[in-house]
Amino acid sequence: LLSVTGLRKSYGSVEVLKGIDFEVKAGEKIALIGPSGSGKSTCLRCMNFLEKPSAGDIRLDGERVGVRPGGRGDSERIMSDRQLAPQRAQMGMVFQLFHLWPHLSVLENVAIAARKVRRLSAVEARDLAMEMLAKVHMSHRASASPLELSGGQQQRVAIARALSQKPKLMLFDEPTSALDPELVHEVLKVIEELAAEGRTMLLVTHEIAFARDVADRVMFLDGGVIVEEGLARDVITTPREPRTQAFLKQIR
Ligand code: ATP
Ligand code: MG
Repeated sequence: LLSVTGLRKSYGSVEVLKGIDFEVKAGEKIALIGPSGSGKSTCLRCMNFLEKPSAGDIRLDGERVGVRPGGRGDSERIMSDRQLAPQRAQMGMVFQLFHLWPHLSVLENVAIAARKVRRLSAVEARDLAMEMLAKVHMSHRASASPLELSGGQQQRVAIARALSQKPKLMLFDEPTSALDPELVHEVLKVIEELAAEGRTMLLVTHEIAFARDVADRVMFLDGGVIVEEGLARDVITTPREPRTQAFLKQIR
């Protein structure tokens, strides 16, 4: 479904991603782990061109993301945000901080994504939003303001908002790391339920036990390269590489 080859990203003279290759097959759940500053967020943001890669090729269902092939004598062209929008809609992104609109209700926050991205009528968008709120167990707060919700509830609404785009792939960037410890579980539970539905996801997380139990594969990123990659249980319980071993030991 998603294939990444030769992905590089530099900020000024600092190369943060130094050639990354991986594939996510339909229905696969992949966890991306690694130390702070190793480039996990940068990698995720390159998937939908929130960051423009310095080099490399990202394909979603075979289609090049963010770049249009050049014509005769023409070099390839980076898409504008407007041209990118349909591709971005196929990747539902959930960040560490939820960025809900405070002046809109929970339902409107979710419905607005469905309307804008999928061009649904107000009624269709509302129905879809209610359906997605049910998935994250937030139907009962549909008319609340996001300001009245706990962090865990806000994050679940943000997940419903991403789902309402009907993405082919979900991208999660440390969705629980800004939450109070007692709220982490409810968000992980929702992600686990989505995983059980067979959704494709690429998840950056520090929740190692969750990665082991829910992901099919784990990739360990360090120093801008994927140091180790394999079945979740293998990488997390019996890592081969010394750098992976040191990282896992230190966060336990
Ligand atoms: P964390 O676990 O702390 O979230 P991360 O693995 O997600 O870390 P990134 O946020 O991808 O790491 O950052 C990788 C490196 O790139 C860091 O050294 C960071 O300072 C640098 N970086 C990220 N974004 C920018 C930017 N917009 N401009 C300059 N440097 C950046
Ligand atoms: Mg990050």
